[in-house]
Parts: sequence; structure tokens; C-alpha cells
Amino acid sequence: MSTIAENIATVRTRIQAAAQACGRDPETVGLLAVSKTKPASDLREAYNCGLQHFGENYLQEAIQKQEILKDLPLTWHFIGPIQSNKTRSIASHFDWVHSVDRLKIAQRLSEQRPEDMLPLNICLQVNISGEASKSGCLPEELPELARAVAQLPNLVLRGLMAIPEAATEPEAQHAAFSSLRKLSEALNLNLDTLSMGMSHDLEAAIAEGATWVRIGTALFGARHYSATPSPASH
Ligand SMILES: *Cc1c(COP(=O)(O)O)cnc(C)c1O
Repeated sequence: MSTIAENIATVRTRIQAAAQACGRDPETVGLLAVSKTKPASDLREAYNCGLQHFGENYLQEAIQKQEILKDLPLTWHFIGPIQSNKTRSIASHFDWVHSVDRLKIAQRLSEQRPEDMLPLNICLQVNISGEASKSGCLPEELPELARAVAQLPNLVLRGLMAIPEAATEPEAQHAAFSSLRKLSEALNLNLDTLSMGMSHDLEAAIAEGATWVRIGTALFGARHYSATPSPASH
């Protein structure tokens, strides 16, 4: 087996074990392959091993890979920070956007979603660790933002997303994910999606209700160039 095939098998085993440990059906946990910085050939290999959902952070890079892989029935998720001058292209090249954190961006995505495409699936990114450097709306801003986004015609508000502060202790990981789940429940909007958990903390996220785990390193290996290219390169 290739490394990617082995990695996928390992991640699937981790997802199954984590789901079983908390009495969840592993089928309710989606595996989103985070392929930023990785070549299209890696995504093709992952597709051949059964993965269909891919998450990308940089628009130009994603569009190049979509072009190369257009023979495959892939589902594309945008998971990176969004500048308002990129919304038109995001609205036409993706099926999901996990990183919406302000109303202006949501309004633009709704207005710019092409008429012949299904509504765009949206997760609102919440800054649950309260770090100044991270994107995401503040928990106290979430109810008003969620209510407004839920009204937009060409979007479907599916749920919430978070990237908690990196924590190694399971207790801290669980606390962060559980706070996102509670915020979602408190909205009372019948949301069906919690996008949370990455390579190092997917077990805690699944225990707290994750429906998408976003996995990069554990599938494709370490990323060799900067995860934050200069603005000129995307
Ligand atoms: C890069 C990235 C991931 C994947 O992180 P890994 O630790 O490599 O699994 C998940 N979510 C977002 C938003 C990312 O930018």
C-alpha cells in the first residue's frame, strides 16, 4: 500500500474507534481530507481510496486542482479565511464553506451563488478559544449572525466550525469542542453539522459530536511550504 492509502486506513480506524467509544455510528462522522499545499496527484490517490470530500484554504491553489481533477466527482469545501474580493469565485467553485464569520461575507456568497447551482452549504466559524489572532466570530456575536445567515436565499446554514487553540490534554480538547456543541444547541436552528477536530484531536471532537473532522497531516503527511502564503500567491 502507498503511504496515503495506509494513512487513510489508519485515520478510518481512529474514527471508527472514537465513534464506537462514545456509542456513535461511525457513518455519522464525515472525513474531510484537507489537501492544502498538496499536489492534485495526492488528491487523486485519496479519491481512489474512497475519499470524496476535499478541503482547501487558498482559492487559486484550489481552482488549479479542481481543473486538473474535473474528471472526478469530488465535493469541494472552502475552509480558509475569506477576503471579500474572493467571494464571487468561492461561491462558484465550492459546495461548502466552513469559514464564514461575518454577515457581509455571507451576503456576498448568497448574492453571488450561481443560479444553476444548489444552495451553498455554510458553517459559521466561531472563535471558541478567544485568541486575538484566530478568525471566527465571538460566541456572543453568534446568535445574531446565525439568524441573519439562515435567512439568506442561496445559502443553507448547516452548522458551526471551530479551530480551537492547540491543546494536548484531552480535558482541554473536550472542553473546547463541547462548548461549540453547546453554542449550536442553544441556537435552536436545527443545525446538523459540527465541523471540528483535526489530525491531533479528532477523538475528542468525535466524542463531542463532530460530523466533519478536517484531517490534513494524518492523511497527506507534513506540509512542506508555508500554510500561509503571501497574499500575492493566492
Ligand atoms: C490545515 C487545516 C486543517 C488540517 O489540520 P491537520 O492538523 O493537518 O489535520 C483543518 N482545518 C483547517 C481550517 C485547516 O486550515
